[in-house]
Amino acid sequence: MAEKKEEKKKEPPKPYKKGKHCPKCGPGVKLAEHKGRFSCGKCGYYEKK
Ligand SMILES: [Zn+2]
Repeated sequence: MAEKKEEKKKEPPKPYKKGKHCPKCGPGVKLAEHKGRFSCGKCGYYEKK
């Protein structure tokens, strides 16, 4: 008897809410959302919400 493997459903990647981008790095770099602030992982820029 062949065992049927259940395909794991992959959760789709979370789409960025609002394309907030870093003003220093440009529109290619999005700011990461944190509690109460957005921050750029590239240059360290952050802004309060
Ligand atoms: Zn930046």
